[in-house]
Amino acid sequence: DVRISRISSSIRVIPDFPKPGILFQDITTLLLDPVAFKDTIDLFVERYTDKQISVVAGVEARGFIFGPPIALAIGAKFVPMRKPNKLPGAVISEEYSLEYGTDKIEMHVGAVQAGERAIVIDDLIATGGTLLAAINLLERVGAEVVECACVIELAELKGRDRLGKKPLFVLVSP
Ligand code: 5GP
Repeated sequence: DVRISRISSSIRVIPDFPKPGILFQDITTLLLDPVAFKDTIDLFVERYTDKQISVVAGVEARGFIFGPPIALAIGAKFVPMRKPNKLPGAVISEEYSLEYGTDKIEMHVGAVQAGERAIVIDDLIATGGTLLAAINLLERVGAEVVECACVIELAELKGRDRLGKKPLFVLVSP
């Protein structure tokens, strides 16, 4: 698919960010290319149209860039999954482990109803901890997580295995 190669070549790789030894996949250069950005959204929309998805959950911060246009196009609600203490209403939260220590994401109580069909969107899967926490939040309120979707998969980190049987759809694996 010519769209995949355009997307792939629009992503910039920055060495030693945010710390030495990390090769950071920078999606801001994808956003600067309107054709690549539209192709990215279109590929997700093509996959999730007519799948009875009513919830697109986006993980802060870059899931907030890709999630909303997908939600609008498929006629679903957009639900932000935020870093701690950002959401003003009552929340449920889920802790997950990082390389050093733990982090947390939160979702508003009442945003998603039991029985809703959801997808989770983020820009990139590394170890899978973030997506797993998002899946857990949605499943705790009784939603069905149909699939997770990312622009980029760092396949060597085996985050996909951490998601168990949950399907993962990605566009590029550098
Ligand atoms: P995981 O929880 O799968 O280990 O890490 C995924 C999270 O870290 C995502 O929310 C993603 O935005 C962020 N992340 C980790 N490494 C990178 C990277 O190289 N580029 C970008 N854009 N995000 C990253």
